[in-house]
Amino acid sequence: MVQPLIFRKGLDLKDAVKGDLARDYHSAVVDDIRAQDFTYESGRLTIHLAREFGFCYGVDRAVDYAYQARKRFEQQRVFLTGEIIHNPHVNDKLRTAGIRFLSDPGEPSPPLGPGDVVIIPAFGVTVHELARLQALGCTLVDTTCGSVLNVWKNVTRYAREGFTAVIHGKVKHEETQATASQALKVPGGRYLVVLDRQETGRVCDYIRHGGNAAEFMAAFGAAASAGFDPDVDLGRIGLANQTTMLMSESLEIADMLREAMADRYGAEALADRYRAFDTICSATQERQDAVLSLLDAEPIDLMLVVGGYNSSNTCNLARICADRVPTYHIADVDRLESPDRVRHRPVPPPDHPPGPVPEEVATGWLPRSGPVRIGLTAGASTPNNIIGMVVERLAAFANDPA
Ligand code: SF4
Repeated sequence: MVQPLIFRKGLDLKDAVKGDLARDYHSAVVDDIRAQDFTYESGRLTIHLAREFGFCYGVDRAVDYAYQARKRFEQQRVFLTGEIIHNPHVNDKLRTAGIRFLSDPGEPSPPLGPGDVVIIPAFGVTVHELARLQALGCTLVDTTCGSVLNVWKNVTRYAREGFTAVIHGKVKHEETQATASQALKVPGGRYLVVLDRQETGRVCDYIRHGGNAAEFMAAFGAAASAGFDPDVDLGRIGLANQTTMLMSESLEIADMLREAMADRYGAEALADRYRAFDTICSATQERQDAVLSLLDAEPIDLMLVVGGYNSSNTCNLARICADRVPTYHIADVDRLESPDRVRHRPVPPPDHPPGPVPEEVATGWLPRSGPVRIGLTAGASTPNNIIGMVVERLAAFANDPA
């Protein structure tokens, strides 16, 4: 078999792509706001920017490696397994640079083989997908974030020690799929994904009282490993999180599961039956903490949260804000259509069924007279240039004499 190359620490072209990255993602406006204690003033408008926002270390690195890969392998086909991060602007830039997406219809055409380069995104890929790409002899550029690798380490250890990995995450999210697959590397390894408190409550009921296994699997079948038996596999569980979940919810889920295991088996049995590691990454936590601090510190009329609608950490920032002030989650600057109209993704209520939430148009979103104070933050996959454009458009709208 042809041995593929795997690049995990860059391709020695950091300096060579620095200028391209600055051209595509840097914002002087954002630099100025940082220098002004994260505050921007223009006429009647004041913007308070959260102190942690935008690109995280994992995204910075993944995008950097993708640019390096394009430069290093100029004569070869370069693919991404799917979106490098959940930001349409960044993905479009990579497409423009000639990087193709295996997830696009009709790709790869012709099929992959030795000589092709495949970039693995920051979320990682499943064990099966990695083995497949290696077997094809592709050169791999692996940008899996170190914080994701940390989750994998915990899940693999649970499986080795006979614990079912209960993963607080979104079952269709690339990171959670990759994480769940880690449990299956170990013979007998099992996993169950829970989305929220509601699903966890159902699992806790089963732990406490047992129930109808068929009904349980009808509800959780797509979120559990093949052959999952709740009567057996919920007997020893270890909790991990998708790195971008809402911290407060993950902590509640940990408490709910711990209490259910204690009720069923007794507190003295917990050490042998229940494990939990907080695997939310520090970048996610810092962004959530920063937006809470901003909401506590400043009188805000409304919040704008900028980032892809399929970006888990961005959606969670919007959830935090929507509990406190009118909040508009926008994917890009073009959603700010006019001083009167904004297209945004509403924050779904807690009982909203899983799945995409369509964009809506809101009118009268920006107060038309008097001072206006806007809080601003952005998810870990939103580049600074988009944030800078949002600031400029807000200033133009707020000071529009019409
Ligand atoms: S959000 Fe966290 S886990 Fe994901 S790429 Fe960024 S730092 Fe890594």
